[in-house]
Amino acid sequence: MIIAIDGPAGSGKGTVAEFVAEKLGLTRIDTGAMYRCVALETLREGVSIDNKKKIIEIAKAIEIRFDEKQNVYLNGENVTKEIRSAEVSSTVSSVSPIPEVREEMVKQQRALAKGLNVIMEGRDIGTVVFPNADFKFYLDASLDERARRRLLQNSENNVGMSFEDIRKNLEKRDYDDSHREVGALIRCDDQIYIDSTNMTIEEVVEYILQKVGVRK
Ligand code: C5P
Repeated sequence: MIIAIDGPAGSGKGTVAEFVAEKLGLTRIDTGAMYRCVALETLREGVSIDNKKKIIEIAKAIEIRFDEKQNVYLNGENVTKEIRSAEVSSTVSSVSPIPEVREEMVKQQRALAKGLNVIMEGRDIGTVVFPNADFKFYLDASLDERARRRLLQNSENNVGMSFEDIRKNLEKRDYDDSHREVGALIRCDDQIYIDSTNMTIEEVVEYILQKVGVRK
């Protein structure tokens, strides 16, 4: 079974995917973390965001791995925390529109899911990575609510960004993610749309489980 969850940054995809994965015994794959790894390595190697050729090389060369606790490894190093830094968050939307980077990530995402029951979250999962997914959700929330959630999450992870900075970063990523030529974040008729602005995580999880159960 493949469940695709797409939606803008901070809409709660990660938390929701984690609960649903646990409940249904699925493997969770956070595709945003993979683009973040490309951005982190680009920063580490001091590569300019204009040097697309080198960024493509990086995307093809790095090894990205997850463990069962959702730790993220870049070339064997645990970078779970580093990929959430403000610097990575502002660089990631410059590397993710590059078509060859996306091509490579999509290839890796399909390979990671091979033979498994997965819940995969991102921007283009139901549209590009797994257009034939069993269930497709689009998880949304207002910009203010998403910034508030991200602020809370960041303070738990000691990422020092103000509400205003977070809000601006989300707004810019929303724009970039929905306006790129390949793999843009779009809403489709075959997705189940959830506006979680006034919903708790538990309510969203319950709703998804209901939909999956009803249509199983
Ligand atoms: O989900 P998260 O906010 O961590 O994703 C970080 C960035 O990675 C997004 O802003 C987007 O630019 C990129 N991304 C993407 N396609 C995906 C998942 C994430 O382009 N499937």
